[in-house]
Amino acid sequence: RPDVFTFGETMVALRGSGPLKLGGTLQVSVAGAESNVAIGLARLGHEVRWAGAVGADEAGQLVLRTLRAEGVDVCGAATDPEAPTGLLWSEPRLPDVTRVHYYRAGSAGSRLTADLIRGAFSADPPRVLHLTGITPSLSPTARRAAGQILPLARECGSLVCLDVNFRARLWTAAEAAAVLRTWVPFVDVLIASEDELPLCLPEGAGARPPLAAQAGLLLDLGVGEVVVKLGAAGATGFTRGGPLHRPAPSVRAVDAVGAGDAFVAGYLSALLDGEEPAGRLARGVTTGAFAVASAGDWEGAPTRAELGMLDAPPGTVVR
Ligand code: ATP
Repeated sequence: RPDVFTFGETMVALRGSGPLKLGGTLQVSVAGAESNVAIGLARLGHEVRWAGAVGADEAGQLVLRTLRAEGVDVCGAATDPEAPTGLLWSEPRLPDVTRVHYYRAGSAGSRLTADLIRGAFSADPPRVLHLTGITPSLSPTARRAAGQILPLARECGSLVCLDVNFRARLWTAAEAAAVLRTWVPFVDVLIASEDELPLCLPEGAGARPPLAAQAGLLLDLGVGEVVVKLGAAGATGFTRGGPLHRPAPSVRAVDAVGAGDAFVAGYLSALLDGEEPAGRLARGVTTGAFAVASAGDWEGAPTRAELGMLDAPPGTVVR
């Protein structure tokens, strides 16, 4: 069976080299939180299947060709003849600030259906199901697709990993919390940034208890591991065995977009390899640092042989 099954919306990404309103050249690529994770895992040698819908257009072909080229199985992907592939523009606005503009309302990817996702999952249930909190914000059908796959994953013995990935442009915190809370009992590995964790807490948990207390509440609800991404500070994992912190390797930041997805890919890769939580965090912060040190959301994701590169002293030439 595949190591990982994931699904969601992948868009064409047009990346500017400066302020977009000035025109100029764009670099054309693809981006989507779940497919970023899929590519990160495939680079590390894992067998990954991605499902989702693209439009019957050149942009959709680019999405599928790119995923195939990266070794991601797209057999479960569908083409929607009635809606276009979604699009995003990104502009580096300041050295540390990138602005992203989305054109995804009504896109093929946002119209993915429960039938499509269930079919792609059931064809060969995976060891790990990875989903994000972006998918349920896209449309009622996408929300149903995600909601229905959770009990199915449990039935099939797949471990469930959820990256909260709250997108304030797509829904409100109250809407997100209403959905994510109902998902928590199905989740084995919950990954979030510090400000996203409260969205998963039971109602009445108070405004914002300390991080360890928040994680404790989630562990009590049956989550196996709560992993909190802390940007340049690294990540902290909470399990029944207690908290474990791993600082991030220090790198020259080129483009922070995609760091979270890269972290998830590294974390899940180590989990699939049977590593303990410390080893999972170590690989997560390593792949997260690669993403920050390279342009693009997923382009700089390391292969297994490259994982040790961050330890090379400055000026190293690998021959
Ligand atoms: P995004 O949504 O932009 O993908 P995120 O908010 O989900 O990011 P972050 O906490 O920003 O996630 O980053 C994920 C991981 O990437 C961090 O836990 C850390 O390991 C690594 N990381 C982020 N920023 C840096 C940095 N400046 N230097 C080194 N590692 C970093």
